[in-house]
Amino acid sequence: MKAYAELTDKFVQCRTLGHSWETIPYDGGGLSFYRTSRSVVNVLFRCTVCTGQRYETWSKVTGDLVDSRKYVMPTGYNLPKEAKGNRKNMRKESLERGLIYLAEAPPVKARKLEQVS
Ligand SMILES: [Zn+2]
Repeated sequence: MKAYAELTDKFVQCRTLGHSWETIPYDGGGLSFYRTSRSVVNVLFRCTVCTGQRYETWSKVTGDLVDSRKYVMPTGYNLPKEAKGNRKNMRKESLERGLIYLAEAPPVKARKLEQVS
């Protein structure tokens, strides 16, 4: 069985194109040592496609990412280590599932007419 068979179409989409983040109110989760203060702020983002969440702590002074990010992904998003979920494999999976609009090849006759004229 293919390694990606268990991924939903939305998970394949995010693994192919990247997540589509929106800002949402911080819910107190995340691993940050820091608490929101005058100098740092905890922020939270959610993917509008797969609902994965990304926690970050930002410096209000410099704009730096203060602490490491924490991701909380929905059940079934993560792949086993032996399955390479890289973009190349995910693009192929997207094509096989028909998830992507494809450009149509120009009609052969039209091309021949252009060459004649
Ligand atoms: Zn996503």
